[in-house]
Amino acid sequence: KVDPSTETFVGSIDQGTTSSRFLIFDTKGEPVAVHQGEFSQIYPNPGWHEHDPEEIVKSVENCIEGALKIFEKDGHSKESIKAVGITNQRETTVCWDNKTGKALYNAIVWTDTRTAALARELKARDGSDKLQDICGLPISTYPSVTKLLWLLRNVEKVKEAYEAGNLAFGTIDAWLTFKLNGGPDKNIFVSDATNSSRTMFMDIRTLKYSDEVLDFFSYEFDLRKVHMPEIVRSADTKAYGQLTSGSLQGWPIMGCLGDQSSALVGQKGYEPGSAKNTYGTGCFLLYNVGDKPVISKHGLLATVAYNFDGKPIYALEGSIAVAGSGVKFLMNNLGFSQASHKITELAETVQDNGGLVFVTAFSGLFAPYWIDDAHGTMFGITHHTERGHIARATLEAVCFQTKAILDAMEKDSGHKLTELAVDGGMSNSALCMQTQADLVGIPIIRPKMRETTALGAAIAAGFAAGVWKDFDELKEVNTAGQTIFEPKMDDASSKKMFKRWERAVQMSKGWLA
Ligand code: ADP
Repeated sequence: KVDPSTETFVGSIDQGTTSSRFLIFDTKGEPVAVHQGEFSQIYPNPGWHEHDPEEIVKSVENCIEGALKIFEKDGHSKESIKAVGITNQRETTVCWDNKTGKALYNAIVWTDTRTAALARELKARDGSDKLQDICGLPISTYPSVTKLLWLLRNVEKVKEAYEAGNLAFGTIDAWLTFKLNGGPDKNIFVSDATNSSRTMFMDIRTLKYSDEVLDFFSYEFDLRKVHMPEIVRSADTKAYGQLTSGSLQGWPIMGCLGDQSSALVGQKGYEPGSAKNTYGTGCFLLYNVGDKPVISKHGLLATVAYNFDGKPIYALEGSIAVAGSGVKFLMNNLGFSQASHKITELAETVQDNGGLVFVTAFSGLFAPYWIDDAHGTMFGITHHTERGHIARATLEAVCFQTKAILDAMEKDSGHKLTELAVDGGMSNSALCMQTQADLVGIPIIRPKMRETTALGAAIAAGFAAGVWKDFDELKEVNTAGQTIFEPKMDDASSKKMFKRWERAVQMSKGWLA
C-alpha cells in the first residue's frame, strides 16, 4: 500500500441526467478510479421527464463505494483523498419537506416540457420582459421556476408542505448536499451560483435572490414562504459540510459547480474568449465573457461560469435540449442498434444526409430559437432514405444548432471564436465532430481525457482544499493526446446544408398547438 502522506487525490461526484459517477483524480487531473451507475428515466406522459430523488442519492452513494474499491485495490489509501466536489445536472427541481427530509414528488428534469402552457402564461404577464436582464434567462420550460410553480399548483403534498411552512426547493446540488450531510439533522442547505443562476430566482450580478423576480412569480403562491438554499461560493471549505455515511464518512465536500460550468472549468476555459461545447444528453456551449455578465440579445443565456473567491466569472451559454438523447431515441424507441457508437457507424454507411433533415425538437427547441411548441420533425424523406440517413441526420441536428449558437454568440460578443474545445459522450463520434468543424469553419479540439465535467468539480474542491493554488498550476492538465478536427467542407456546401436546417426549424413550429 502507498503511504497516504505521499499521494494527493480529489474525489468528484458527477450526477448527470442519465447516470451518476464518482471519479478520483490525481493532481495531474487524471482519473485513477471511476464507477458509474445509471438510474431510472421516468416518462409518465409525453413531454414529461422525472427522476426519483432518493434513487439519485443511492446511485451516488453506490458510485462512491464502487470507485473507492478500485482505488484501494490499486494500493491507494482513502486518507490521501483531500476533498470531494459535486457537479450535477442543472435546473432539475426537487421539492422536499425540510422537517422530514423526504422528497414530496419526483424530480422534474430540465428537459421536461409539461410547463409549456405555464411558461406562455408567465410570458404574457406584465414585467416578464424585464426578468432576463436581472437573472440572465428568458422564461421557458427550462429554468427551475416553472417546474416549482407546477409542483405548487398540481401536487397536493407540495401544497401542504408549503402551507405548513416546511417546503424546501432545490436543484440537484442542494438536494444532494442536504442528503449526503444526513438530511434535516444537520440541515446543510446550500447551492452555488452556477446552479442558482439556473432557477431564474438569482440576480446574476449580486448572486443573491432577486426581490423583483420573486415578486413577479409570487402572484399565486408567496415564494418567500418556500425555503431556498443559501447561495455560497463554488469552492468553500465549510459551507458544503461533509459526507455522513459510507466509506468516506467524515470527508469534506468542498466544491460545487453545475455540470456545464464544471466542464468549462475542466476544459480550463479561464480566459475571457475561451469556449467549450459538451455533447452529453443535451449539448451546451459556454463562452467565458469575464467578470461582467453579457445579457444576450440573440437567444443565448447569461450564466455564472464559476465563483471561486467571491469574484464571479460569467459565461454566455447556448443550450441544446437534445443531443445524445437523440441517439438514445434511435436506440430505445426506434429499435436501432443498442450501442451508441453503432449509431455513428450506421451514419458512416451513407455519404451524406441524402437530403434528410431531422429537427430533434423533442423538448421544443432551446437556444438560440426558444420555440416551446416545436416538435420533432423529419423533412426530405424519399424512397432513397435509409436508416443510415436517419442516424446521420440525428447527429447533424446537434451540429446545426451549435452553428446557430456560435453565430448568435458572435453577434452578442462581437467576437469570432477561433477554436472550440469539446467533450461529452457524443464527442466520441468522429463523424459528428468532423461535421461540426465543417459547419462552423473552425478547428474542433477534443481532449484525450473527456471526463472534464467531473474534473471541473474536482478542481473546485481542490482549490478550496489547497491541492491547487491557482489556474497556473493546472496548465499542463489534460493537454497531451488531443484530437483536432479541421474544417474540410467547402464553404458553399456547408452554407447550403445550414440553410436547409433553418428552413426545417421554421417548419417544425406549432404542430399540435
Ligand atoms: P450525460 O452526462 O448528459 O449523462 P454523457 O456525456 O455521458 O451524458 O453522454 C452520453 C450520451 O452520448 C448518450 O446519449 C450516448 O448515446 C451518446 N454517445 C456516446 N458515445 C457515442 C458515439 N460514439 N456516437 C454517438 N453518440 C454517442
